[in-house]
Amino acid sequence: MLTFRDFSDALKRLDIERTRPVIAHASLSAFGEVRGGAETVLAAMLINFDQVMMPAFTYKTMVTPEVGPPDNAITYGSGHDSNRMAEFFQPDMPADRMMGAIPEALRRHPKACRSEHPILSFAGINVEAALKTQTSDQPLNPIRALKEQGGWVLLLGVDHTVNTSIHYAEAEAGRKQFVRWALTPQGVVACGGFPGCSDGFQAVAPRLRQVTHRVQLGPSQVTAVPLEALTIAVRAMLAEDPQALLCIRPGCERCGETRKQK
Ligand SMILES: [Zn+2]
Repeated sequence: MLTFRDFSDALKRLDIERTRPVIAHASLSAFGEVRGGAETVLAAMLINFDQVMMPAFTYKTMVTPEVGPPDNAITYGSGHDSNRMAEFFQPDMPADRMMGAIPEALRRHPKACRSEHPILSFAGINVEAALKTQTSDQPLNPIRALKEQGGWVLLLGVDHTVNTSIHYAEAEAGRKQFVRWALTPQGVVACGGFPGCSDGFQAVAPRLRQVTHRVQLGPSQVTAVPLEALTIAVRAMLAEDPQALLCIRPGCERCGETRKQK
């Protein structure tokens, strides 16, 4: 069973200055049994880094309209059943279960703040300025803010297929973005700048070998990459091949639509 000490030591061994902000993605279950669960992993991050941010996305606010812009990788009018299940975004809405237990532990932390995007909010500690840069059409701005401070991506027991910062880098490189809609107390809100599919993102890993810090922790690994180097690598890959980092899943709507773009 892994303990707070195990996680804290592993994060220390990554050898990243504690003053560098981090955006973290984590799978608790990848590490087997963890004494104290999500709170333990969160506490280990907070003892090693002054500024920690995680995605606290809320997909259950999403609705599908009857009509909308073309080439948007969505089937308009298909949401009759799912729209009925949608929930209004509230600032205290839990992070989606898909994000894992740790973002929700962070969101609930007494010192944490959360941004207000009705689908793609981030939660974090000592990252208020970065969170404030987010807009409904520029949802990934907080990642840019962390990059400008020399920030890092932390991947605890997960790979680049959950690395939201690659979406930021794709958008910076000019890749097609989408529009999605969220239910809010003010009505249905269109959210532009919505990213594509991340299933093909592990292809970036070989490009980052030189700059990746990696430590073994129990049955899994913790890796870290600098946001600046990640952004440069993604930009280079898309310049060489406009279809880089797309997935090969047949019927993937967003990757299919991205392939059609020039
Ligand atoms: Zn895809």
